[in-house]
Amino acid sequence: MTVIKRFIAGAVCPRCGEMDKLKAWTEDETQYRECVACDFTDEMSLVIEPEVDELATRVNQTQPDPRDEIQVVKLMDPKA
Ligand SMILES: [Zn+2]
Repeated sequence: MTVIKRFIAGAVCPRCGEMDKLKAWTEDETQYRECVACDFTDEMSLVIEPEVDELATRVNQTQPDPRDEIQVVKLMDPKA
């Protein structure tokens, strides 16, 4: 398995503060970063655990839709 390490454009090393010195690669669902200017390394799991969103409290009151007004149309029989 070939691991491609790429420089992260514009990334600043949190240790030495050098820009464009960080390489990143992904291996086994873990993202690694390393700095070529110092010996900083970092790893971060890419496995995203599903967040349990609290259900937004929604107002269940529905506004009456004016189109719901039923217009009773009486069909007139022209022969009547
Ligand atoms: Zn560094």
